[in-house]
Amino acid sequence: MIVETINKIKAEIGEEVTLVAVSKTKPAADITTAYEGGQRIFGENKVQELVEKYEALPKDIEWHLIGHLQRNKVKYIAPFVHLIHAVDSMRLLQEINKQAAKNDRVINVLLQFHIAQEESKFGFSFEEAKEVLEDKSFVEMQNINVVGIMGMATNTSNEERVADEFRTLHNYFQILKSHYFKFNPDFKEISMGMSGDYKIAVEEGSTMIRVGSTIFGSRN
Ligand SMILES: *Cc1c(COP(=O)(O)O)cnc(C)c1O
Repeated sequence: MIVETINKIKAEIGEEVTLVAVSKTKPAADITTAYEGGQRIFGENKVQELVEKYEALPKDIEWHLIGHLQRNKVKYIAPFVHLIHAVDSMRLLQEINKQAAKNDRVINVLLQFHIAQEESKFGFSFEEAKEVLEDKSFVEMQNINVVGIMGMATNTSNEERVADEFRTLHNYFQILKSHYFKFNPDFKEISMGMSGDYKIAVEEGSTMIRVGSTIFGSRN
């Protein structure tokens, strides 16, 4: 069912929206099934698991780190990671920049915003992000490419609220684009939407959805 589900989701979201297949906790065999069906973009939320899967699986997979990232672990993924979704502090940006330079690469990142009402979710407020983007040391970072923003909506059955939160994120994107990234065509991604809310996210302008359990089955 993995490949059928991926194809169904891709038909729903259209070609303009990127599907990140979230394979966390799932065996490499499930990823291989999806890969053989044509999927190339996979997301993981734990560094060690990401590294192990990177080493075991085909090298043309685009690996995304979607979860919270600790600074001391950046070095393990810096040689190969394609996109880091959840960057939410200046110190993390500095570490990614440093490790990217060591590997002679530019690493793509998304700034994570706190849009949910839940306390536990990570992410910048709009004001905090502005401070970072205006900081001289950010402007000088040569090995980071900020390609967009990311957020997670409140885990609720209230679809109006979820839509509202995604709309807020879309709005942040447009303001940041016009103020800070006018001349960076790479700044174009809004990573929002998971299994339970990706349809709402796409209606609200998502360019990248992160879907796990709908594709691979529920996790323990
Ligand atoms: C696990 C996870 C997902 C996927 O969640 P599902 O509900 O299984 O689709 C998406 N984004 C992040 C940041 C995650 O940790």
